[in-house]
Amino acid sequence: MATVAPERVSRPQVRQTTCFIDGKWIPSASGKTFETIHPATEEVICEVAEGDKADVDLAVDAAREAFENGPWATMDARDRGQLMHKLADLIEAEIDELAALETLDNGKPITDSRNADLPLVVDCLRYYAGWADKIQGDTIPIRGDYLCYTRREPVGVVGQIIPWNFPALMAAWKWGPALAAGCTIVMKPAEQTPLTCLRMARLAQKAGIPDGVINVVPGYGPTAGAAIVEHPDVDKIAFTGELATAKIIQRAAAESMKRLTFELGGKSPNVIFADADLEHAVAGAHFALYFNQGQCCCAGSRLFVEDKVHDEVVDRIADWNAKHAVGDPFDPNTKQGPQVDQAQFEKVLQYVDYGRQDGASCVTGGKRVGDQGYFVEPTLFTGVTDEMRIAQDEIFGPVLSVLKFSDVDELVKRANNTNFGLAAAVWTRDVAKAHRFAAKVRAGTVWVNCYDVFDAAAPFGGFKESGIGRELGEAGLAAYTENKTVTLSLG
Ligand code: ADP
Repeated sequence: MATVAPERVSRPQVRQTTCFIDGKWIPSASGKTFETIHPATEEVICEVAEGDKADVDLAVDAAREAFENGPWATMDARDRGQLMHKLADLIEAEIDELAALETLDNGKPITDSRNADLPLVVDCLRYYAGWADKIQGDTIPIRGDYLCYTRREPVGVVGQIIPWNFPALMAAWKWGPALAAGCTIVMKPAEQTPLTCLRMARLAQKAGIPDGVINVVPGYGPTAGAAIVEHPDVDKIAFTGELATAKIIQRAAAESMKRLTFELGGKSPNVIFADADLEHAVAGAHFALYFNQGQCCCAGSRLFVEDKVHDEVVDRIADWNAKHAVGDPFDPNTKQGPQVDQAQFEKVLQYVDYGRQDGASCVTGGKRVGDQGYFVEPTLFTGVTDEMRIAQDEIFGPVLSVLKFSDVDELVKRANNTNFGLAAAVWTRDVAKAHRFAAKVRAGTVWVNCYDVFDAAAPFGGFKESGIGRELGEAGLAAYTENKTVTLSLG
């Protein structure tokens, strides 16, 4: 990945704040708006159209029309791929501005949005652009005098509901496979972070993606989000967010038998064996949890450390935390920005209290930073046991729980002692130990001597309550196609 160090970045201009439906930029039918906030200063950035059922109805109608009758439906697959490449190019051309917009709306450090989020957006769209003309079926040698073949057809109109932790990247993960497959989209960005998604929709329009193919309805979950889920003419829902919300969606979607994919939370075990390269492992374990203010569904939030190296690892992480620059996300030296909003900020501090109440030791952090913005100190707990709330619940903040282990067989059981199963990691020089752990841990992704290595070609998703289905790679594409079997009599 490119590592461009941005100069101190000036505030970006906000240009798109309305719904985007059928190629038109329109206020919500109700005329209502909501505020989006810069979490470092708590100031209002702008008002954004608050979409609701009426707007979703319009968006679904536009998406259906574009799917059934628009130029999208008849376009050659390779041309669809070209439009996606054009979108990726336009995003790349505006990458500095989009990164700044992401930092403004979400609060993540500009070095992260510029060097990680936005390059991954471009890469994901290019990866799936390449798939557009490679989605093909099989010919099948069935019994009898028949020609039997399969067609992989787009699933139809897809509702995509995304969270606030990687706003632009989550939009790209969802748009990429949907567009490549030939689906049309109604997207609801998170209410905390609608701005980059709206800007990307403008660039999609500029790229020549036909009207109605991508529609964006900003708004709240129980209103705009629920309207997408309940709409009878939406064929599939792709959702990233909380488990509790996913359960509401799963029940509501049962009515119309929608296809569902879910990417949910995690409480991922990250294991450091005594034989690991400790410098490397500590740097990785720090990144695994504190990256993105701890707001990653795959955060390595349960750090299991073999007893022989426990104290050394804890000391080294504490040193890292002392140097971890928390502050203005527009300063290129900042490593950690604010939590995304007041609710998340309060939740994180609540879990710090739970950690103390349950008997863990707070080695670093544990408090708010400053008195403006939602900043939390990088926090490290030791003496954490498996049943404590800070070892069981997803905190989604800069709070790392260290758990000591000595017995390797016990370790696997403890690592799997969670309802989640999104990711896991292991740090060791012993390849057999690494592969044994990788095979036994119940998680959709396992990293060995690395963490958070994402690639558009590698599937990502959860076991157990961390999700259903996979995003990225060929598996991610499959979720946007229906398999149709055609049998022709040759007799
Ligand atoms: P998070 O903690 O990441 O905000 P949520 O599950 O609350 O997780 O939100 C993820 C996305 O789901 C957001 O876009 C949110 O508006 C949306 N959402 C929340 N509740 C519902 C709901 N009942 N139906 C559909 N979407 C919802």
